[in-house]
Amino acid sequence: GEIFGYLFSRGMGMHGLQSIDRDVVKMICREYDVEVIDADPTRVEDMARKKEILDEEDLDSLEDRPPVLTIMGHVDHGKTTLLDYIRTSKVVASEAGGITQGIGAYVVPVPIDGKLQTCVFLDTPGHEAFGAMRARGARVTDIAIIVVAADDGIRPQTNEAIAHAKAAGVPIVIAINKIDRDGANPDRVMEELASIGLMPESWGGDVPVVQVSALKGDNVDELLETVMLVAELQDLKANPHRSAKGTVIEAGLDKFKGPVATFIVQNGTLKKGDIIVSGAASGKVRALFDEKGNLVDQAGPSIPVQVIGLDNVPIAGDEFEVVSSLDAAREKAEACAESLQKDRIAAQAGYGKVTLASLASAVSRGTSGLDVHQLNIVLKVDVQGSIEAITQALRVLPQDNVSLKFLLQSPGDVSTSDIDLAVVSEAIILGFNVKAPGPVKTYADNKGIEIRLYKVIYDLIDDVRNAMEGLLEPVE
Ligand code: GDP
Repeated sequence: GEIFGYLFSRGMGMHGLQSIDRDVVKMICREYDVEVIDADPTRVEDMARKKEILDEEDLDSLEDRPPVLTIMGHVDHGKTTLLDYIRTSKVVASEAGGITQGIGAYVVPVPIDGKLQTCVFLDTPGHEAFGAMRARGARVTDIAIIVVAADDGIRPQTNEAIAHAKAAGVPIVIAINKIDRDGANPDRVMEELASIGLMPESWGGDVPVVQVSALKGDNVDELLETVMLVAELQDLKANPHRSAKGTVIEAGLDKFKGPVATFIVQNGTLKKGDIIVSGAASGKVRALFDEKGNLVDQAGPSIPVQVIGLDNVPIAGDEFEVVSSLDAAREKAEACAESLQKDRIAAQAGYGKVTLASLASAVSRGTSGLDVHQLNIVLKVDVQGSIEAITQALRVLPQDNVSLKFLLQSPGDVSTSDIDLAVVSEAIILGFNVKAPGPVKTYADNKGIEIRLYKVIYDLIDDVRNAMEGLLEPVE
């Protein structure tokens, strides 16, 4: 009430559900002499990475760059249809006769106030690709478009997509799709969104929601405009006047061209003839192609470009950068191969691994000056009903030493995308009456992620409680 009064006195009268932006939060905190910190560690990590892409000396030469977008959502909710509609209506139409070759991303012109602005779509819809990139430390996407079918509502993969976007600190725009269908009930979807903390803007919240028909193209322009507005608020900038760095989004071996890779330039401008290094691959840029297969001379910030000239196939999600000489490139590539080897050994030795046992021993030692540890949990269960039962039981455990944070609660077997989420958020995976298929287990082992599977709810609760109290015995 006091804060409302304060805001009112500053001419910012507001009602209950309205959200306030960071600057206003800072202003209030100054007034009440309270320090502001960003409490979500995954967000802080992402901000750090964003800073890493921009160097100190870039700050004087920053220019606007186009937003990079990813479409996510439950299977069959219309991700591909939406992408196809955008691609065919916006890209191919503007390029009569051009043959589009998939390079993993494409540039879309969007008319805003009569002017054409650019946005960039990543071509592989779905949170699996998003999670895999993030697990490699890549942060390419600026905005996530989450598609929810109006006749089906929020489903498990919708939740997973939202969890991935949130963990990455990426703003979300919701597209309620299939509004042309007979059974469409967009209001119910709005209610579901509100119930999981994504309050639609039209209801006073801060999540933009646009109702579309990807099949007919209805309101897709409005969706793109909304996305561009969100992008504008994000103040996306880079310095085009420097040597390039960015992320590999796709890579493979072409029969004729040799190793080919698609890069998204995140800072600087990539030019033909530049010497590049990405992970253990290096070389000189022999040719650059855009998504229409046209040869181009250069690619600036946010622009995807296919690159030929590397000596090896790099890995999607890895960074690339331009260096001054081939020798420097080879040196970096070798150093990278070495450190990869070290990481692998460390992961196998379980170094730095988050497990219930390591939590228990940290609690019992009372280590690291941290008063409260946080245990991040990805919870996979057999049926929706189990989620409520388990989270309720866990939430009532005393959280004096350890606070619990659920990154994702979702029905279904453990998947590699769950592991990726656990990697970036340093989480453990708890499963109740679900399986972790062999390849998923191997993947988890390689990434140093603990999966604990239970058949009895009380066993699960007991283990977590014991770990939180520092009492869990290590198991072999
Ligand atoms: P994805 O699995 O999310 O990529 O979903 P798809 O794009 O493959 O779409 C699944 C099915 O829904 C397809 O048969 C589409 O034709 C259909 N579909 C997608 N969008 C719409 C829409 O706006 N309206 C209607 N009526 N059908 C749609």
